[in-house]
Amino acid sequence: MSKTLFEKIADKEIPATLVYEDEHVVAFKDIDPQAPVHVLIIPRKPIPRIAEAKPEDHAVLGHLLLKAAEVAKKLGLAKTGYRLVFNNGPHAGEAVPHLHCHLLGGRQMKWPPG
Ligand code: 5GP
Repeated sequence: MSKTLFEKIADKEIPATLVYEDEHVVAFKDIDPQAPVHVLIIPRKPIPRIAEAKPEDHAVLGHLLLKAAEVAKKLGLAKTGYRLVFNNGPHAGEAVPHLHCHLLGGRQMKWPPG
């Protein structure tokens, strides 16, 4: 199976500005930022989207969320707050079929989202 775009970023075959990595997850800056801070946190495992996650993925998904909070703190967002977003499927605007958590912060967010 060919690698996803984000697997290639995780394997450093495609350049990106990494802000965190460990054996399970990688966090890097979004190429088209929608906020002053816009980071994507991905599992190294190429789970396509949350709807296709399996029970055995629970540990990596929990780890990913905890690391998202750590990255947010490291980037100075702990006090002002931030938003975590998972787009799943066409109506959500999912463009890259490798599960990713958007970490957005550094400005006031609106609700409901567009
Ligand atoms: P989605 O719409 O699938 O939830 O989000 C995909 C995100 O990946 C978008 O915010 C888009 O800007 C980002 N993205 C797409 N291609 C690249 C890339 O090559 N490098 C980086 N760093 N981000 C990318």
